[in-house]
Amino acid sequence: MAFRPGHDPSLRPGPSSRVLAVADSKVAEGVAVGGEPLHVGWIDDAPVFAARPTDGLPEDARGLRAVLAEGPEDFALAAGRAAQLLDWETTHAFCGRCGTASERSSAELTRVCPNCGLVTYPRISPAVIMAVRRGDEVLLARRAGLSLFWSVLAGFVDPGESLEQAVVREVEEEVGLQVDALEYVGSQPWPFPSQLMIGFRARYAGGELRIDETELAEAGWFRLDALPEIPPPYTIANRLILGR
Ligand SMILES: [Zn+2]
Repeated sequence: MAFRPGHDPSLRPGPSSRVLAVADSKVAEGVAVGGEPLHVGWIDDAPVFAARPTDGLPEDARGLRAVLAEGPEDFALAAGRAAQLLDWETTHAFCGRCGTASERSSAELTRVCPNCGLVTYPRISPAVIMAVRRGDEVLLARRAGLSLFWSVLAGFVDPGESLEQAVVREVEEEVGLQVDALEYVGSQPWPFPSQLMIGFRARYAGGELRIDETELAEAGWFRLDALPEIPPPYTIANRLILGR
């Protein structure tokens, strides 16, 4: 079973389709939905649609994080894309230039302003996430606030910045260290609400730990055989930390 993202504007839900109702970062199938369902791809040969539930979701609707953690993977990827696209439709319901209500394009996966013609593409916010290594140690930090996990550093890419520049800048800003020997590891869509996490490893190249206390509660070096509680296996953070 595999999820293939895509968009065919001519498709409408049929007997073999799957309609994912998404609201409040939860997802369910087989519930009443409102509006025109949005085609988001295929699971095997079955078209998959995203829509908002008419009367809310049932009590046993699964959270997107639980779906990502527990699978099945094809459903998790479909639900993540459905959630991202519905969030984009909600937050781009009006033209950002002239304020007119925007409309779903009948030709492609865009929203179009009927007044001024502005075309809006689905929004993705790229963020770099990086494991800094020093010998057999890895740099981990705990976010300010309620976070329980120790994890790698991460941050959004600025306009005009390369991914590599974002890695170097974020590490410098958050913990005051320099890094080099950047190596791309992989990426993960992260639908909370619309990030693409782009994972790197980097080598410690100098500096003393000095944390940005608005972002982080604490940071430190950990030996790989003595790690604290880290993010769960389905996250790219886990993969970066463990070197999988
Ligand atoms: Zn407009």
